[in-house]
Amino acid sequence: MNKLLSVKNLNKVYYNKKDEIEAIKDISFDLYEGEFVSIVGPSGCGKSTLLNILTNMDNLTKGNIELKENLKLGYMLQSDSMLSWRKVIDNALLSLEIKKEKTEENIAYVKDLFKKYGLLEFMDKRPFELSGGMRQRVALIRTLALKPDILILDEPFSKLDYQSRLKVSDDVYKIIKEEGKTALMVTHDLAEAISISDRVIVLSDRPCTIKNIYKIKREKEGTPIENRKDKNFANYYDLIWKDLMFHE
Ligand code: ADP
Ligand code: MG
Repeated sequence: MNKLLSVKNLNKVYYNKKDEIEAIKDISFDLYEGEFVSIVGPSGCGKSTLLNILTNMDNLTKGNIELKENLKLGYMLQSDSMLSWRKVIDNALLSLEIKKEKTEENIAYVKDLFKKYGLLEFMDKRPFELSGGMRQRVALIRTLALKPDILILDEPFSKLDYQSRLKVSDDVYKIIKEEGKTALMVTHDLAEAISISDRVIVLSDRPCTIKNIYKIKREKEGTPIENRKDKNFANYYDLIWKDLMFHE
């Protein structure tokens, strides 16, 4: 297997005027090409901090991050943060604009993604005219516009209601697979993590350490919705739930 990313003994401490907050303690894991890995952990344990460090939006205190050379990370945040006055297509082109990569070729690629994923007729609408699920797909396309090798997702479905969350996680999963991307997703929803992932990394309370890493085995690979019906699903749910509930 082709290792794309390696996190080694990562530590993060926030230093304030008065005190220090230890957010991450000695986390190590690898990410391989084509994998979908989820990270679950209690709220406030340091999940977003970890992703911010991986994407260079924050710095680490101790440890190492090794990214295979020339690979690009794409970061999709919890909020779709669309500019309300801009057309949906112009929102999707925003990341290219910021990076000064808004070439004809890249614009064509984004339009192609709109077409492929059922959004063509919404290109010229404003964000408020779209459902929450559509906006998440647009946010994903905006991230894909920069052609990242690894997608980093921070609770991408948490703002959606339960019904659309299931549907949108199926859609997002299909797009990520279809486009051949590797994904690392943070969520606090363990059913979501188990149903979408090849592996699930379970974190402890803050400062977060790795409690367990589960390789998710299924009778048959399906979409996240189908995977919820797999006979091993309840068993993983039980195991991870116990990891999250019981502290030593
Ligand atoms: P999660 O995403 O798991 O809910 P976060 O990574 O956002 O948690 O936060 C982990 C801990 O680090 C929290 O206790 C939070 O208050 C603290 N923290 C996050 N960002 C900062 C910061 N910039 N300065 C100080 N403390 C922070
Ligand atoms: Mg967070």
